[in-house]
This record gives sequence, C-alpha cells and structure tokens, in this order.
Amino acid sequence: MNNEQPKIPQATAKRLPLYYRFLKNLHASGKQRVSSAELSEAVKVDSATIRRDFSYFGALGKKGYGYNVNYLLSFFRKTLDQDETTEVALFGVGNLGTAFLNYNFSKNNNTKIVMAFDVDPDKVGTEVGGVPVYHLDELEEKLGGITVAILTVPAQVAQPITDRLVQKGIKGILNFTPARLHVPEHIRVHHIDLAVELQSLVYFLT
Ligand code: ATP
Repeated sequence: MNNEQPKIPQATAKRLPLYYRFLKNLHASGKQRVSSAELSEAVKVDSATIRRDFSYFGALGKKGYGYNVNYLLSFFRKTLDQDETTEVALFGVGNLGTAFLNYNFSKNNNTKIVMAFDVDPDKVGTEVGGVPVYHLDELEEKLGGITVAILTVPAQVAQPITDRLVQKGIKGILNFTPARLHVPEHIRVHHIDLAVELQSLVYFLT
C-alpha cells in the first residue's frame, strides 16, 4: 500500500482488489460510469458498504450518475501499487504448490511467484510453470529482497521455515498449512486452511 494515501479501514482495504478487478473489466468494455447497485451486484457486496468504502477514496457518487470509472481506477492503481510487481517466493512444490506455480496469478499483474523451494531431489533444480525450484538450503542465498512468501509445505516444517524467513526480513506470509505460525508483531500472516474452509461451508449448508 502506498503510504501517502489516506488511512483506509482494513475491511475496506480487503475489498479493494475485488473492486479493482471489476472496474478494470468495465473500463475495458468502454464504460465511463457505474452505479453502486451495479457494483454491488457484480462483487456481491451490499451497496451501502460500497458507498461507505468509496467515501474513503474521496469518490462520492452522484445520484443518477454513479461513480466515475476512470477516477476510481486511477485511485486503485495508486493505492494498490499496481505499477509495481511484488515478487513472491513459494515453499513446498507439492500438489498445491505446483498448482500455484502453474497458475501464478497471471490475471493479477502485480504479484508474481519468481522462485520456489523444496527438499525433494526430484524437484530441486527443475522449473515448474517457468519458476525455478531451489533447495531449501539455498533460502538465505536466493531470497534476496523478496518480502512475501507462500507456504504449501507439510505443517511440521512451516514454523522452522517461517523463522528463517523472519530472519531474512519477510513482511507477509500466506500460510496454506494447518500450522499456527508464531511471528513478530510487524509481520503479517494470512492463514488459509482449505480443509477448515470447506468444512465450515458444509456446516453452514446443513
Ligand atoms: P506431493 O504429492 O508432491 O507429495 P503434497 O502436497 O501432498 O504433494 P506434502 O507432503 O504436503 O505433499 O509436501 C508438499 C511439498 O513440500 C512436497 O513437494 C515436499 O517435498 C515439500 N517439502 C517437504 N518438506 C519440506 C521442507 N522442509 N522444505 C521445503 N519443502 C518441503
């Protein structure tokens, strides 16, 4: 996030990429303006929330006109640092890790996995989805200034890898393992346990 921007509540910030993606599509299709009702339908966020979110961006919709698509897009581009690519390292080239490397967030042009690490001799030294796979022993040597990591390793090795990443100055970790990670306060961990997510979905259905 760009520090010169006004402070945006966390919940709002989380919705920014969603808005941004939709607005880019609108822009590509030549639309100049959009109403909060249209946006609401497309991104599945209620329109009162959208109006409140957008008021933080200084984008005040006009009744009967809606929001100016270009204004919003330039705001999002600045706020989300879309001109700068964030390089990401992935740990654990198993089934899930391989899927991420092949997918590589190609629709988001601002994040890119540029290297991966594993310990399996069959994987180390290869490329998956065009991304080189290094041995975990090379972490300190190869990581450089990368500040974001994705963990798709077995749970029991997640913490030791995290500790090494913290030493190297990592800022954010997307943790797909079931392990609860302990990190210093200034480091951000987003935990995505797919099994738990699926179970909780099923729970709400029954
Ligand atoms: P696979 O079918 O390839 O085993 P998986 O996702 O079911 O995939 P896991 O046991 O979860 O397998 O391991 C994920 C990946 O993490 C594997 O490629 C494994 O070699 C790798 N791995 C295991 N230990 C480490 C470690 N300490 N550091 C980095 N990668 C590791």
